[in-house]
Amino acid sequence: MSNNLPSIARSPIDRSSVALARASLFKFVGLLAGVFFLASYSLVYLAHDLDRTEEVQSAFYTKKAMQSLEKSMRSTVKDYAFWGDAYKHLHVEMDPDWAYVRQNVGTTLYTDFGFRGVFVVNDVNRTVYAVLKGELKSVEAEKWLEQSIDAILVKAREGVETETPTTAFIVVGGIPALVAAAAITPGTDPTVVSDDRSPSVLMFVDILDSAKLEAIGRNYGVDGLRVATSGDMGTTSILPLGENGIAGSLHWSPSRPGLRLLALGLPLIGVAALLVCLMTWVILRRATAGAQALDASYTSLQSGRAALATSEARFRDVVEASSDWVWEIDADWRFTYLSERFEDVTGLSRDAWIGAAMDDLLSTELGSLSQWLSIPNRLPAISVQCRYVDTKGQERITRLSAREMTCGGFRGTATDVTEEVEARRRIEFLSQHDALTGLPNRTRLQEFLDGKLKALPTVKHPLVMLSLDLDRFKPVNDLLGHAAGDRVLNEVSSRLADCVRHGDLVARVGGDEFVLILTDVSSQEEVEALCRRLIESIERPIEIDEQEVFVSASIGIAMAPNDAREATELLRYADIALYEAKAGGRNTWRFYAGDMNEKIIERRRLESDLRFAIKHGELRLHFQPRYRIADGQMVGAEALVRWQHPERGLISPDTFIPIAEESGLILSLSNWVIDTACRYAARWPDSLFVSVNLSPIEFKRGNLVERLQKILFDSGIDPARVELEITENVMLEDAEGALEIMHTLKRLGVRISMDDFGTGYSSLSYLRTFPFDGLKIDRSFLNRLGDSEGDESIIQAIVGLGCALSLTVTAEGIETAEHLKLLKAVSCDEGQGYFLSRPLDTGAFNALVGIRESTGIKSNV
Ligand code: C2E
Ligand code: CA
Ligand code: CA
Repeated sequence: MSNNLPSIARSPIDRSSVALARASLFKFVGLLAGVFFLASYSLVYLAHDLDRTEEVQSAFYTKKAMQSLEKSMRSTVKDYAFWGDAYKHLHVEMDPDWAYVRQNVGTTLYTDFGFRGVFVVNDVNRTVYAVLKGELKSVEAEKWLEQSIDAILVKAREGVETETPTTAFIVVGGIPALVAAAAITPGTDPTVVSDDRSPSVLMFVDILDSAKLEAIGRNYGVDGLRVATSGDMGTTSILPLGENGIAGSLHWSPSRPGLRLLALGLPLIGVAALLVCLMTWVILRRATAGAQALDASYTSLQSGRAALATSEARFRDVVEASSDWVWEIDADWRFTYLSERFEDVTGLSRDAWIGAAMDDLLSTELGSLSQWLSIPNRLPAISVQCRYVDTKGQERITRLSAREMTCGGFRGTATDVTEEVEARRRIEFLSQHDALTGLPNRTRLQEFLDGKLKALPTVKHPLVMLSLDLDRFKPVNDLLGHAAGDRVLNEVSSRLADCVRHGDLVARVGGDEFVLILTDVSSQEEVEALCRRLIESIERPIEIDEQEVFVSASIGIAMAPNDAREATELLRYADIALYEAKAGGRNTWRFYAGDMNEKIIERRRLESDLRFAIKHGELRLHFQPRYRIADGQMVGAEALVRWQHPERGLISPDTFIPIAEESGLILSLSNWVIDTACRYAARWPDSLFVSVNLSPIEFKRGNLVERLQKILFDSGIDPARVELEITENVMLEDAEGALEIMHTLKRLGVRISMDDFGTGYSSLSYLRTFPFDGLKIDRSFLNRLGDSEGDESIIQAIVGLGCALSLTVTAEGIETAEHLKLLKAVSCDEGQGYFLSRPLDTGAFNALVGIRESTGIKSNV
């Protein structure tokens, strides 16, 4: 530079002042260079740090994503495999109709969950059921997967006792896939007994193709998640799949916030440095050219300061260009610096906060921030999640990274992560809650239950589990559609939630099944009061599109520690109690009792005996004569079935009809009854009709009309001599369907009467709308006659009603001469009862109609 100095004559004083100016300028330039170097170094360090954190975090989330995928598949396969119905239809017998056609384990697994392969492998490891991309196929799982699945089957079966499913990453056609498998067990279904074959295994296969990986990555905020190629090996963004990466590895592209910061910051610093150099050069020229060395040196110092200010401004720009805010605190934990972004991000004023204690603004979950920062032996750079309240009063979450300064105090950046944390929280919530009602799901229930049971409930402070199932919900779905069904479920859910206390849990564990966990009730009376409240609240009409829908509920109760201490046992016992509540007429509750299990086994035995009985002629028909009250003439007889059990003797229908209805045996039983009754009656005098009882189940299933038509034809009886007795339940469950069937039945020429009138809703509209020929007053009215005056007038009113609607009114259960007298007085048409005749076996009945026809009642009247 000295070559460029103008060669003018200088005085010694002048020369020394120039040298002085030069020397101080060089010092100043050195200082500036130092400052620039420091700024660049800090920036690079900060950027590197940001990238490192981001890399570690994205690796964490990728791993989490895969774990959560495995967890969710495990829980899905578990839901399907540990299930009584699945055991019956996939293991005991492979029933593709149940599984595929009725959509129990069918297309929806592909459409809803995206499982490209669904397999059932039986006890001898043959694939007996395969659904590929939602289509039923006949293919061996091993063939489709192109590898042996023995290890997976062994692991799945090992988990049978503990009902633990297994998962494994494999490669299918060069693409990684996740397989979840579980041995099929009866679950908590008390009605299914397991056989001693090796269990079948249910297997779901999820192919992790690029679209799927992308989507999973997006959910966890990881960009470009894909299968790693050989070129990606050796980089840090690699996650091996399966043991030792047997199923390949995943690779992703972590975002590089640091790089972006550098791209922005370094050029700015460079430009600033260049400008300063340029300026220094100009100043130097001026200094050497200027006459007044002191003046010149003074001026150059001034402009040096200006340069420093510019550089600071540039640095500030860099900091402000980032979305984070920068902070500094002194050794007393008070803010000494806050970048401008602080105001944009938090909405708070910088002036107000500079000088204020950091702990007043920010708090961590573990305590105060100052405490956290002063933990000794921390890593040099640290980050922690803090919360603060913004100007709108909203809580916000920020991730703070901090570095200790050599002069004491800390400095660092703060990144707003409120949205990110919210999104994660939401994912967490969704995985633990039912999407329709927002109630906790089975997963949450399990966690909650485990936690409560770990706290060891006592007899004094027990844990009460209610298993609640809606009655009459299915018809709502069938008749009003699923949207209405959903609304009913939502309404029921909020009513249930209203009935329990804060701290209790209401979970939805199936279509219309709920589980409630209560910890704050101690006595049986309290539990019963709650059950009553729950049922009453559910029974209140639910308004759907100006229509009132009625549902009800049955509840089973089990308590810890009295009944069980383990979650699965407790759930099973509550289910058994629920089953008893349903068998006990629904709309009620039952506490679990030790003998319930035996009762269920007993019931099951009776069911299998009944199956045998129907086939092997153990059923008997008795006939109970029906008389015209006015003149005592016998007009017909009701066929009543009995069971001549080889060991237990004669069993009454009240015992076995419910079992037949529940097991579906009712169809073959009823076929036998109608057929036998018609064949007998065909031989009776033409003036006598026969009436048979139908079960509501027969209206729902089993082509009643065709069956009846065939029987009428085979027996040759005049259809006008056949009467069908049906109860109101038929109409309650599916009024429209029932009406249609009844009209068709009427076209066959048979009569229809409403049985047990007065016990149910006794809705008059049914009598008016449906094609009834008669109604039978339930025997409970006559039974109670002595007790209440009201019943007499009710009987009178029913007879009047029947007359008005042209229905033949029959009174049941005439047990005394007084009963008969009363019925005669109110002009009831027909009657039946022990006083007139008990149900007779066929021999006795034949004798009655063949030998002493039309006697019987006269002597009694
Ligand atoms: P239900 O239709 O109300 O039949 C009348 C029941 O009342 C019969 O009981 C009969 O024996 C009894 N009974 C008749 N007169 C008197 C009386 O004066 N006093 C008293 N206390 N009882 C009287 P059973 O035979 O035990 O039948 C019970 C129920 O079983 C029947 O009630 C009916 O609902 C059902 N049931 C009977 N047979 C069949 C059948 O073949 N199919 C279907 N689905 N259900 C049947
Ligand atoms: Ca009847
Ligand atoms: Ca009856």
